[in-house]
Amino acid sequence: MQPTRSLTRPAPRAAVYQMAYFPPDQYEQAWAQGLLNATSYRDHGDYRRETEQTMQALADRSASPIHILPMDVADLLAYAQRTGKDPAARPTRLAYTGWLHETGHTGVLWPPERNSPCWCGSATKYKKCCGNPVFLAVEPPDPASLILRIDLDGVTPAVWRRVAIPSNTTLDVVHRMIQDAMGWYDEHMYVFETDEHTIIDPRSDSGEVPADGERLVSIATDVGAAFTYVYDFGDEWRHTVTVEEIRPGGPGNMFTVLDGGGACPPEDVGGAGWYQHLLAALTDPTSPDHDDAVERLGDDFDPGRWHGAPAGQE
Ligand SMILES: [Zn+2]
Repeated sequence: MQPTRSLTRPAPRAAVYQMAYFPPDQYEQAWAQGLLNATSYRDHGDYRRETEQTMQALADRSASPIHILPMDVADLLAYAQRTGKDPAARPTRLAYTGWLHETGHTGVLWPPERNSPCWCGSATKYKKCCGNPVFLAVEPPDPASLILRIDLDGVTPAVWRRVAIPSNTTLDVVHRMIQDAMGWYDEHMYVFETDEHTIIDPRSDSGEVPADGERLVSIATDVGAAFTYVYDFGDEWRHTVTVEEIRPGGPGNMFTVLDGGGACPPEDVGGAGWYQHLLAALTDPTSPDHDDAVERLGDDFDPGRWHGAPAGQE
């Protein structure tokens, strides 16, 4: 379904993507200054690979040019102080990158020619450095597993899930994981919102940041951090997603539904307010909407029952 109205401020179609990047010496300084945490790769090679993979994914779906903007830690710290932002927060790095671009820093165009020096600054040919298929084939486990609690806003009884998601998962994949955990059918568009950022379904032409170009760690930065996931711009199901815990990654780091409660509402039922009304009408044969509620929900519908409970939990 196309959005019936804009959820966000209008923005022009992105003419160019800007990718923030810490060169090796700056990466070490970023660690030393506490700008990186358990959700970041410790190894610069793993970090470069992640950056290259993100740009390849962007290039697969968009013809817009991609510019790599090398970050300077001292300059980033000065920017954070000037703007009153947390220098360790990933959103600050995104905002800093935007500021660099606005102030005329065009960075390095990606991808370089195969035989040209690599974008990463190594002085090695691109095809033998970050563009090397052997380098790209290595898949280190994500550095962290994020334990997230998802609450569907505005419904009673509560509909919630607790999930574990690898920290580097791109947000288009996180969308599918949330769909799966909640019980939605992935029939509509979606958007992720934070106080500062709007990251939207790549099928949208709103010009906002596409979900396949951002990773979960960009918006789920620290324990206690929260973002909103909106599904279906018609019914506008809002989910509050909170980071409960950051666990170390490792071989078992994969998407897992850990716990939950409450039934997922049916698709296209009219949003939280009308769903609540139908639940009341379902148990009230005198309600003028009783028949409609039975038709939409089913007469044995139990809103408190979670159908997706892992084996042995129900
Ligand atoms: Zn390289």
